[in-house]
Amino acid sequence: MTAYDFDLFVIGGGSGGVRAARMSAQFGAKVGVAEEYRYGGTCVIRGCVPKKLFVYASRFGDAMEDAEGFGWTVNGRKFDWPTLVANKDREIDRLSKIYIQILDKNGVTHYDTRAEIVDAHSVRLVTDDKVVTAETILIATGATPFVPDIPGAELGITSNEAFHLPELPASITVVGGGYIAVEFAGIFNGLGVETTLLYRGPQILRGFDDDLRDGLAEELTRRGINVHVNGMPAEISKTSDGYGVRLEDDAFFETGLVMFATGRIPNTQGLGAEKAGVQMNGKGAIIVDQFSRSSVDTIYAVGDVTDRVNLTPVAIHEGAAFAETLFNSNPTPVDHDFIPTAVFSEPEIGTIGLTESEARDKFAQIDLYKSRFRPMKHTLSGREEYMLVKLIVDGGTDKVLGCHIMGPDAAEIVQILAVAMRMGLTKKALDATMALHPSAAEELVTMHEKWLPPQGGAGEQ
Ligand code: FAD
Ligand code: NDP
Repeated sequence: MTAYDFDLFVIGGGSGGVRAARMSAQFGAKVGVAEEYRYGGTCVIRGCVPKKLFVYASRFGDAMEDAEGFGWTVNGRKFDWPTLVANKDREIDRLSKIYIQILDKNGVTHYDTRAEIVDAHSVRLVTDDKVVTAETILIATGATPFVPDIPGAELGITSNEAFHLPELPASITVVGGGYIAVEFAGIFNGLGVETTLLYRGPQILRGFDDDLRDGLAEELTRRGINVHVNGMPAEISKTSDGYGVRLEDDAFFETGLVMFATGRIPNTQGLGAEKAGVQMNGKGAIIVDQFSRSSVDTIYAVGDVTDRVNLTPVAIHEGAAFAETLFNSNPTPVDHDFIPTAVFSEPEIGTIGLTESEARDKFAQIDLYKSRFRPMKHTLSGREEYMLVKLIVDGGTDKVLGCHIMGPDAAEIVQILAVAMRMGLTKKALDATMALHPSAAEELVTMHEKWLPPQGGAGEQ
């Protein structure tokens, strides 16, 4: 019997928090959870799930265009934004209820309130102004959009609002060049909004493999997105029928709406964690060890609030590892290697492992295999679009270090490849694998020629 109200109290009912709460309860712990907005968290309510539904919506236009080359006549194309939003909301409601049912089914006490840390063993439930105690506290409060501090920034929206726009604007400027900016630029463009992607650096998707970055920027441009790099807004203003964007170089243009997708910051403001002695980094992320334990022995943190790898499966994995460690006598460190990830742009990209430049820094000799080809479907659709497949191999051990794909189903292909790479995939094993024809993924097992920089060119060495 514990001297506290709960064995575990979880702050935040999102991906990581609910997984940790559910599993800990299944291992016999008495668990409480507080959620200040909606159970399911960012991924379910205003992240991965509604985003992917919007991505699907945005791809039908192309599918209808492509169909003509296959003999179809598609008449009366019309898109209704309120229908999409309402149908998406219905699905989100259904999923959020499932999260609550999971907690109920496992005997987890849940509170609809903001919670704040009082000390190493107590949490204040803000709505009822009540303090509950717990042997262990888990912070799983996620992150929130960051908007740069420029005049007029408050006139813009973030991804939170993008899911509930009353109507689509005629044009939009999406500021940022990361996951959310690129995905939403694709969504708006696919739904017929004139779209500008405004990024401060020289190329979008910093941190991804350079071939993918260049290839995707080219494809987005071909699809009509105005990819404006080396541009940073200095001021946003209201105009008669939209917004004015003045850039740092003084250029000015008008747009129907501005969306900031300029990163996310951990939800630790006003949480009381620092008062309890929890150490955070300069960004406000909770610093944890490999078991997700903070600098205070009884306080742990998982998911985006720790700013390790900010993806849903990672938050879930960290939540599960936490429960195994604390309540199943099975110490489980979290391994953040070989995490597959995708950007659901159009075309999408899927990636796992090292980029070419990371591999060059770490390994004495790397071999590259690259293929750029037109997907078979487009021989009849007539669409000018290319797929990229790139493998990075350690020349010393033959191990596959990285795989980067741009094109249809890139995310699906990379998810499966992730299993093989975790098990130590070698190029030899790929070469020995029978191709599945005709498919795009067969390229992975049929690229036999090492890629060499063009003769006489500067190359990439
Ligand atoms: P969250 O899921 O954010 O949960 C935290 C919860 O805590 C929230 O519900 C919040 O309301 C609550 N909370 C915060 N403070 C308090 C408090 N003091 N008291 C009580 N409750 C509190 N990841 C992918 O893997 N794939 C994708 O396709 C993908 N798409 C995304 C698209 C968008 C637009 C965004 C914004 C994110 C996307 N992500 C995606 C990232 C993913 O959503 C996050 O990595 C994931 O949700 C993190 O889970 P978490 O449990 O750490 O936090
Ligand atoms: P990202 O970190 O991916 O991108 C942030 C972008 O904003 C970068 O291009 C960054 O530029 C730019 N930026 C940052 N600060 C400023 C500033 N002050 N002024 C102008 N631009 C700025 O964050 P997102 O918000 O796109 O997404 C958050 C996280 O959520 C992602 O990192 C990812 O982990 C997760 N996510 C995952 C998705 C998926 O799995 N498909 C989809 C959506 C989100 P620079 O690169 O120059 O720093």
